[in-house]
Amino acid sequence: MDLKQIVRDVLDFPKEGIIFRDITPVLQSPEALKESIDQMMDKLDGVDFDLIVGPESRGFIFGVPLAYNMNKGFIPVRKKGKLPYKTVEKEYDLEYGTASIEMHIDAIQPGQKVVIIDDLLATGGTSKAIIDLIEQVGGKVVKLVYLIELEFLKGRDALKDYSVESIIKY
Ligand code: IMP
Repeated sequence: MDLKQIVRDVLDFPKEGIIFRDITPVLQSPEALKESIDQMMDKLDGVDFDLIVGPESRGFIFGVPLAYNMNKGFIPVRKKGKLPYKTVEKEYDLEYGTASIEMHIDAIQPGQKVVIIDDLLATGGTSKAIIDLIEQVGGKVVKLVYLIELEFLKGRDALKDYSVESIIKY
């Protein structure tokens, strides 16, 4: 199955000149949903890790089924102000302005091995901020897996010290 054919290109979203890669048709199709989870899981074959970390909200969609299938725990990273307990926080740059993400302070024990899952790698800014949260509490990032990678935005350069895998490339 060619998953790339199922991803929908939406022109001028969220603003003019951007082609948004919309994964909702992949989620809608039982076959494509299964194929995308299975292919991401293949990238973790033989990888020694303890936990999956996924950012709100599409990182939850792919991260939880992978964690469930592989008998691992799942740690949510959320936008500032959403998590109820004590958190670690990281502010990072967006194209205009900044954003802050948080993770519970006790989500990862020092030395635990962590895989980051998200739907899409663009500039790598979001992933770099997540890595910072994980490393703040002593976790070790062993791999990052994405369904989609926008190669022309060179996210891998921002993540050059880490092992990066993706399924669909543009
Ligand atoms: P980055 O921080 O520049 O790598 O952007 C990655 C984040 O932006 C991910 O969490 C994606 O969900 C989101 N994102 C950026 N562009 C797209 C897109 O074309 N489709 C879906 N999500 C996107």
